[in-house]
Amino acid sequence: MAATAAPGRADPRRIYAEHMSAQPGIDRGHTDDLMSFLRASPSPYHAVASAAERLEKAGFRRVEETAPWDGAAGGRFVLRGGAIIAWYVPEGAEAATPYRIVGAHTDSPNLRVKPIPDTGAHGWRQIAVEIYGGALLNTWLDRDLGLSGRITLRDGSHHLVTVDRPLMRVPQLAVHLDRSVNTDGLKLDKQRHMTPVWGLGGVEEGDLVRFVAEETGVAAEEIAGWDLMAHSVEPPAHLGRDRELIAGPRMDNLVSVHAGTAALIAAATQQELPYIPVLAAFDHEENGSQSDTGADGPLLGTVLERSVFARGGAYEERARALAGTVCLSSDTGHAVHPNYAERHEPGHHPRPNGGPILKVNVNQRYATDGAGRAVFAAACERAGVPWQSFVSHNSMPCGTTIGPITAARHGIATVDIGIAILSMHSARELCGAQDPRLLAMALHAFLGA
Ligand code: ZN
Repeated sequence: MAATAAPGRADPRRIYAEHMSAQPGIDRGHTDDLMSFLRASPSPYHAVASAAERLEKAGFRRVEETAPWDGAAGGRFVLRGGAIIAWYVPEGAEAATPYRIVGAHTDSPNLRVKPIPDTGAHGWRQIAVEIYGGALLNTWLDRDLGLSGRITLRDGSHHLVTVDRPLMRVPQLAVHLDRSVNTDGLKLDKQRHMTPVWGLGGVEEGDLVRFVAEETGVAAEEIAGWDLMAHSVEPPAHLGRDRELIAGPRMDNLVSVHAGTAALIAAATQQELPYIPVLAAFDHEENGSQSDTGADGPLLGTVLERSVFARGGAYEERARALAGTVCLSSDTGHAVHPNYAERHEPGHHPRPNGGPILKVNVNQRYATDGAGRAVFAAACERAGVPWQSFVSHNSMPCGTTIGPITAARHGIATVDIGIAILSMHSARELCGAQDPRLLAMALHAFLGA
């Protein structure tokens, strides 16, 4: 039998049950709240708006990057496109007080609208799309899709677009016209086969923009740019004999954004905080993080530095603060798949509801080392949550995430962690119903240490 939780640890279900009401700040409604968060966040722009709304309710206030900042105690956040950096300065924090950072990403693989979107053939109206990130393309077939994202008006203002009803569909070819599909596998050409239909009629230039204008209540001629994408309109749901699983979209990685937001809000209620807790949720992780809102951009470093300077520090205090800082980079990992167990490392089989996972790769696809393991283990111990180790099968390429980028770019000690899911990068993923809350509890214990 493969090892799962660290040796000597008790049954995670029992531990979870014991702690259901033991943790202040992260309540038992966490999982239901996660499902609302997923639903309200079909695009990265929505995800940061959802996080900002929760933070504002908890007393955090938005600061503009173009305005001067003060160093007073309290919660603040910066929004930039699909990224959010939020932090809480406790009373008595000094310029060199180190940070404790939860890192995550807001984006998920999907279908995104091309610059000239109106297309079609043979009496069908279609929308031209690009493939964003490493989507499991087959999971986007025969699914009722809505449209979301943002538009930018001529005056430079941004507006969220939310069409959360069945609007589009990428229809799969009938089996009668593709007789070998079940034996030879489905072959999809990204250019020819992934174009959604959204009605009948001829191709009309400007059709989609006019539709979006009507849906958002603005004049079509005011729309100067758009960042629009498809999402599954099927809501997240509990699944399983005992409802012990959750099926839903974008759990990679909104589970971490949601848990990190809850953990930061909970940490901000504490009296004594030796660190400045931070949530850093970036866009563009799914295609390498290289953008002004991605983890490989300067956003996090600039915010941390300005915060040091706002508290009266200079280069010396900035260096001291970052030297004492630790980042838990939270993202999803692979739970052991019952039908493909041979693809997983036989001694490391993370399972749903076994608690958060520590992700290790000695070739630095993950930033975790032994020192990081100790930080994570201590946080889980304080929270009373079980945890598991993940490492790839030596013959399988290992994925990566924002952890190594954050470590290399800012010189911050970083630990890659997350929760174990199935169907990663599917339009609808699957995870244990207890894990999101166990993750939030561990993140809270880390931020509030
Ligand atoms: Zn991810």
